[in-house]
Amino acid sequence: MLEKDKWRLTGMEDFLNNECFKYQNFADEYEDTEHEHCIFCGAKFSSNKEDLQWGYSSTTRNGYWWVCPECFNALKDVKGWTVSE
Ligand SMILES: [Zn+2]
Repeated sequence: MLEKDKWRLTGMEDFLNNECFKYQNFADEYEDTEHEHCIFCGAKFSSNKEDLQWGYSSTTRNGYWWVCPECFNALKDVKGWTVSE
């Protein structure tokens, strides 16, 4: 992991390790009035143009989580993440 991305992992070292994610369009999963945040950096997902539209989602026994593409790419190796079709 690059030095510049280390902040994304702070406090989250043991969270969502070895998870499998799906690359999804937020609007396909949620109503227009809803939004979610990337659990690592807080980036907002919604159907609004100024927010993120696409991201990685994972359903675990701990809930339904969204991760933005930047965090996903920065952390996938250290986290052991995979992507399903
Ligand atoms: Zn993020």
